[in-house]
Amino acid sequence: MSFVSHVECTICGDRHDPKRLLTVCARCGQMLVVRYDLERVKTSVSKDALRQRPPGMYRFRELTPLDDGEEPVTLGEGGTPLLPLSRLGAHLGLRRLFAKDEGRNPTGSFKARGLGMAITRARTLGARGFVIPSAGNAGGAAAVYAARAGLPCAVVVPRGTPPAAIAEAQIAGAHVFTVEGSIANAGKVVTTIAPQLGWFDLSTLKEPYRLEGKKTIGLELAAELGWRMPDVLLYPTGGGTGLVGIPKAYAELLAMGWLAGALPRCFAVQAEGCAPVVRAFLDGAETTTAWESPTTHAAGLRVPSPFAGRQMLRVLRETGGGAVAVSETAIQGAQRLVAQLEGIWTAPEAAALVAALTVLKERGDVARDTEVMMIFTGVGLKYEPPPLDAPVELAGTDAEILAQVKRVIRP
Ligand SMILES: *Cc1c(COP(=O)(O)O)cnc(C)c1O
Ligand SMILES: [Zn+2]
Repeated sequence: MSFVSHVECTICGDRHDPKRLLTVCARCGQMLVVRYDLERVKTSVSKDALRQRPPGMYRFRELTPLDDGEEPVTLGEGGTPLLPLSRLGAHLGLRRLFAKDEGRNPTGSFKARGLGMAITRARTLGARGFVIPSAGNAGGAAAVYAARAGLPCAVVVPRGTPPAAIAEAQIAGAHVFTVEGSIANAGKVVTTIAPQLGWFDLSTLKEPYRLEGKKTIGLELAAELGWRMPDVLLYPTGGGTGLVGIPKAYAELLAMGWLAGALPRCFAVQAEGCAPVVRAFLDGAETTTAWESPTTHAAGLRVPSPFAGRQMLRVLRETGGGAVAVSETAIQGAQRLVAQLEGIWTAPEAAALVAALTVLKERGDVARDTEVMMIFTGVGLKYEPPPLDAPVELAGTDAEILAQVKRVIRP
């Protein structure tokens, strides 16, 4: 038996039947969330029992929407390392700095969690194929899990999407289409074609299952920190699944009595070239408005009109957090810095968090002893690298080669 009690609208509160394949609220068109019978979860599983299970996101099965006996479509999502970043922390003047390295998921990004869950549930509830608008990683992950589920998939991406993500989708047999503009234009195409194809629309937060996959980051973090929450959480924000999902995980664990205290202060980090959440936060607005001509090489942050603007702003305000936009050069510099100090080639979206830390430190939003958690959402290897020196070509006699090496490395 599943532990789901119902599915509820985040805005009007209307209840929906969890046994049906759901999209958005039938009454008001807003985002839906899955709710659980947390009392029953609490009496059915213990922290000790969880520890005995194999690692991965289905360790927390009772807090997922899976039915009893439902086999997940899985490639081993979750169970990613929580890394203390002491060298980067020392550089930035922070004593308790951590990253959850989501680049270690199948497909190299945390999209694997959300799409693994969404495709599992949608297939069980009758979906016959999938369509998704994407900035890259979501399309790749959707294609991969659709392949594993034995169902067809179409991916619509803006022109200029990182080639590795397109290849990832194509090699898994998905149909990939490109459009001009941003993911917003891709989303419009998906809205048109999904009902015509009869395939399920996996657009960010326009169905309630993907959030439950992303939420498992928060469940893992809670367990990994010894059933505590960090002081501050930094999230590279596009559509905002994790920004909404991680606090949801904490809230559920708080309601179960497995955690105590205040939610971490949550900060949305965006690129200066596309910062609708930052702008809305600073304006005191209730929701986001479309960002004109979005530009950033951090593909996952190029989301000019996120569907869940209201829900994200609510998280930032209710937790006493905030929002920061960083420049492209700051992102590139941060990407090199994390790689050099910690050995992690993280995605530009995640590097934006490191760039934002400098700003937050200066502003006094984080102090030397603040426990800071960053979600490193993807692996850098899937993207064009930041500007680097060309390797020096060695040629000639041994003496010449040695001279060439010594020009680079001065012992
Ligand atoms: C999709 C993506 C993001 C943004 O995530 P949202 O949940 O859409 O806000 C950040 N980083 C990477 C690497 C991504 O693929
Ligand atoms: Zn509603």
